[in-house]
Amino acid sequence: MSATPADVSTIGAALRSAAPTVNDADVEKLRLIEELTSDVDAVQERVLSEILGRNAAAEYLSKCSLDAGDDISRATFRAKVPVVSYDDLKPYIQRIADGDRSPILSTRPITEFLTSSGTSGGERKLIPVVEDDSGRRHAMHSLIAPVLNLFVPGVDKGKGLYFLFVKAETKTRGGLTAWPALTSILKSERFKSQPNPYTSPTAVILCEDAFQSMYAQMLCGLCQRHDVLRVGAMFAATLLRAIRFLQLNWEQLAADIEAGELSRHVTDPSVREAVAGILRPDAELAEFIRAECSKVDWAGIITRIWPNTKYVDAVVTGAMAQYIPTLQHYSGGGLPIVSTSYVSSEASFGINLRPMCDPSDVSYTIMPNTAYFEFLPMDADADADDSTNLVDLARVEAGREYELVVTTFAGLSRYRVGDVLRVTGFHNAAPQLRFVRRQGVVLSVESDKTDEAELQRAVDRASALLRSRTRGACVAEFTSRACTDRVPGHYVVYWELLLTTDAGGDAVAVVDGETLGRCCLEMEEALSSVYRQGRVADGSIGPLEIRVVRAGTFEELMDVAVSRGMSIGQYKVPRCVTRSDVVELLDSRVVSCHFSPALPHWTPTPRSGTPASPRAPVTEAKSTC
Ligand code: AMP
Repeated sequence: MSATPADVSTIGAALRSAAPTVNDADVEKLRLIEELTSDVDAVQERVLSEILGRNAAAEYLSKCSLDAGDDISRATFRAKVPVVSYDDLKPYIQRIADGDRSPILSTRPITEFLTSSGTSGGERKLIPVVEDDSGRRHAMHSLIAPVLNLFVPGVDKGKGLYFLFVKAETKTRGGLTAWPALTSILKSERFKSQPNPYTSPTAVILCEDAFQSMYAQMLCGLCQRHDVLRVGAMFAATLLRAIRFLQLNWEQLAADIEAGELSRHVTDPSVREAVAGILRPDAELAEFIRAECSKVDWAGIITRIWPNTKYVDAVVTGAMAQYIPTLQHYSGGGLPIVSTSYVSSEASFGINLRPMCDPSDVSYTIMPNTAYFEFLPMDADADADDSTNLVDLARVEAGREYELVVTTFAGLSRYRVGDVLRVTGFHNAAPQLRFVRRQGVVLSVESDKTDEAELQRAVDRASALLRSRTRGACVAEFTSRACTDRVPGHYVVYWELLLTTDAGGDAVAVVDGETLGRCCLEMEEALSSVYRQGRVADGSIGPLEIRVVRAGTFEELMDVAVSRGMSIGQYKVPRCVTRSDVVELLDSRVVSCHFSPALPHWTPTPRSGTPASPRAPVTEAKSTC
């Protein structure tokens, strides 16, 4: 048949045209997408009934007076089960983590925890998992490739250069494994036993040492550069770290390729053995890498080194949107940047059915069989804390914004995820949702999510240090931004100082650079464990920077807001700035810049066996000041 990627622009059209580019296995998956998205409400009804069938008898829902014996209606569920946040469920989750094996949230045994990048009290949230969750996660994930094959026929034939990393697992007090979702997937038997579509051998991906894993993944990607049809990472920040890594290490990588010998810096025997299966002496390739990487301009480096790349696969929505221009620069502007899915530790939510769309235009279609979904209206006229007006998945309205609330198979009931989403349209009857923001988050460079309260606490701690070391100087005003011009990105906090004066009006406080450097570190110590892990273990966040601005700068900021129509009475200093004119104004008033002089403390939760060793970051930040 004659359908081409251009005419099979929708899944329905592709199925109707029986395009020759679509193989039977893909047709089956595409049909499943059509089925799931056509009768959303019935699928949700079934999902809720199954969840309640297994969890209504557990302690948590029993306390909500749900009668496990009855067929519980949606109306009863809504009337009796409160909408909650993680902190409400924390005591239950803690008991499970500590070893209580009674049916607390679910009647099914909790098999492990996923450690979310969302935090509670500065520590990662623990999200419970039951045995069949991995099957559900895999089922949704398996829908992504058929959609991509539709738009980029043949992409499944080549290899993917994907930068994928695992973290060391930890054990809770009660002996359950706790690790990030990606680690759980990559260390699963399913992943290890299936054919590996990547240039990186499985042993390389499974190496817990971030430097050795990155080095070997890059080397294997360089050796197989003509086989690579897609380049990616889960999130854009990780892919940019990989490019920065290449900038810092291309000479050694080229030397390894020339000699056909892996650098002695990679010591892990399983990594060495896996790389030995790929690395061959290749002087021509080494020369090519030297020629490309020594150029000052790295624009288009992805397509220059991996010329058959058809698209870049990395999430660039939400906090990752700040990386779109840099990624476009490195991909030469012409490559599609594809955000394939919207997932979390709690559940997999949806996939992008128009993967080739503009990165700023991405919406995800909710897959209604992954969890039970409700939506809390967020519009100006809706009361964000009024849980009685929650809307079902099938009843959300295009153009409106909602916070996502999920009920999961593992026993989170009516749980506020914290993500705000806008309905942009529908695929069949399933809503398509654009990620708008994470509730409350003001700063994020990678997986860290710092909210206003955390930032305020960090500034308060540093301000107290400043006062104690300077005879009374303190922070009069502050704001912040995530600076991602360089890799890794870092937090910039703008401070306007209040200096104490003597009776004659002369400043008595002496603020020296060393003290302000210590204040940077003090702030980092006060930030969440996810932030500190990014700084210490992953090297994914650069040293925090304080930019001291001259007196009066924050009044100027207010003047700008007022000139744009803000009422003076309502004005509040924004704790995070993103508008380029505001950033420019702040930067033009900077009198000095100071960086954290050391790494903050971070220790992994002890696990049985070896503690993960913090290592020096693999990339460094430079001041833009
Ligand atoms: P975690 O629990 O650490 O996996 O983080 C899940 C959170 O990451 C989600 O609730 C979102 O806030 C964010 N996230 C995941 N996927 C996306 C995406 N495709 N676009 C924007 N944000 C995302």
